[in-house]
Amino acid sequence: MANKNTKCKYIFVTGGVLSGVGKGITAASMGAILKAKGYKVTMQKCDPYLNVDAGLLNPVEHGECFVTHDGVETDLDLGHYERFLDFETNKYSITLSGGIYKELIERERAGGFHGKTVQLVPHFTDLVQEKIRKASAGSDIHIVEIGGTVGDYEGLPFIEAIRLFANSVGRRNCLYLSVVYVPWINTSKELKTKPAQNALKDLRGFGIIPDIVCVRTEKPCDRKICEKIAAFSGISSDAVVNLPDIQSVYDVPFNVLKSGVLEILNDFVGDDKQPDMKKWEKFSKMRNKNHDQTITVGLVAKYVGNEDTYICVTEALKAAAAHHDVNLDIKWINAETVTDEQLASVDGIVVPGGFGLRGVEGKIAAATYALEHDKPYLGLCLGLQAACIAAARRGGLKGAGSEEFLNDENYKKPKDFKNVIYIMADQKGKEQTGGTMRLGDYDAILKKGTKTAAIYQKEYDDKCYIDGTEPLKSGDVKVVERHRHRYEVNQKYLKEIEKGGLIVSGASRDGKLVEFVEAPDKTFFIATQAHPEFKSRPLAVHPLFYHFVKTLTIIS
Ligand code: GLN
Repeated sequence: MANKNTKCKYIFVTGGVLSGVGKGITAASMGAILKAKGYKVTMQKCDPYLNVDAGLLNPVEHGECFVTHDGVETDLDLGHYERFLDFETNKYSITLSGGIYKELIERERAGGFHGKTVQLVPHFTDLVQEKIRKASAGSDIHIVEIGGTVGDYEGLPFIEAIRLFANSVGRRNCLYLSVVYVPWINTSKELKTKPAQNALKDLRGFGIIPDIVCVRTEKPCDRKICEKIAAFSGISSDAVVNLPDIQSVYDVPFNVLKSGVLEILNDFVGDDKQPDMKKWEKFSKMRNKNHDQTITVGLVAKYVGNEDTYICVTEALKAAAAHHDVNLDIKWINAETVTDEQLASVDGIVVPGGFGLRGVEGKIAAATYALEHDKPYLGLCLGLQAACIAAARRGGLKGAGSEEFLNDENYKKPKDFKNVIYIMADQKGKEQTGGTMRLGDYDAILKKGTKTAAIYQKEYDDKCYIDGTEPLKSGDVKVVERHRHRYEVNQKYLKEIEKGGLIVSGASRDGKLVEFVEAPDKTFFIATQAHPEFKSRPLAVHPLFYHFVKTLTIIS
């Protein structure tokens, strides 16, 4: 729906009591509902960390590092936003305190403040508001999630910024939503509302009275709990709703609709049109169904069992399985201890992205096994590099390795070491630095006649997602994928790689970088230097995941 008054409306989502209780999913669900009502919705995350971006954060502590199309390394929440709203976030969609301070200090050093004292208010808060305006460009409704919980020292400038925002765009154009947690105390067998009351009192103290309060509980709670929170917090009881835990995050929009929040959202946007949830209903049914067939995928990874670290990969696989009407069993295989028996026991292997030496030999062993036993293989970024090393070794280069290994003092460099994977020329000396990798969207040209090209070209229907893909005159296919890497295939060794079973099926436009490889004589062996998982959507599965899983449904 075009916004007639060209004025964007803003929803600000804050959290109380605890973080990690589904604030991001709640915010994204509101967005999905508003999108299903016909609005153009965008989302943004403001995080109070002093990091400048998420690139250097430990994936075990912080989960996967998501990459925007314009090359910013962000929090995994942006992946949820993209999956729920099927839009592309950008560099404005993530605002970290560190980035704001960096910009302010650089401006100050350059004399940009003309002698003024630089302060949290108004300078920090103004810059946050500027980022919010930029992130909302062109949308009808813009949702901003504030990370952490209200009351955290470091989050206060953001709370003040979103309070002030209503002064500039008008309070009626802003909706404040607070997600609070109500714990169940097992010894006394009761839900305790006090922490939620205090959290809302804190929020009020900072000048924000929420328009909606979502009460998160483990199990559905009695209406009285919401009424109690409403009474103690000075909020209308209709505006306090319960959102209990639910099995699949993709069912949260239905929970939100059931909660009665729609009326408040309708009032806010000024229409009472029902959201069209048909596609969501279809996906929910597909995903929650117990299918007759089960496929097993071995995820050969360093951080085993930590789904958050590879969330885009597991979400892409799960969505593909749902679309093919099969159950998915992900077997986490520790890359450091992987055995042939483990690899033999799965229908297909995925080697996801990764950094450093630890576990890489196991990933190379998995690729070798896949080549030798015709086991379907999907390699993502490091998964391509491992595959090329495996092929080069099979092709006679026993000492094939990656220059990335040399950075690790534990690496025992073989005498005949060959840098089959080497550092990109412009990356030398930047190995430990943030924001300097080859990041974001880059073209690749897929070679006519390869399986890779066929996969991207075919099935271009509502089940598949091929953003920016257009057939080139020669019959080659141009694709755009997101990247995050520092090392690349050394084309000096392509002969050995080919002898070992892999051909280059896609390269950068100038031919300098290998972007895709495949084993032409195998059932499914494709690896990419990119991260296609970032562009896969529940309702529009990325073709590589779609066809990888399709292969497994046929052979299993
Ligand atoms: N460590 C490899 C590189 O930097 C692969 C990166 C990745 O898998 N994202 O090139």
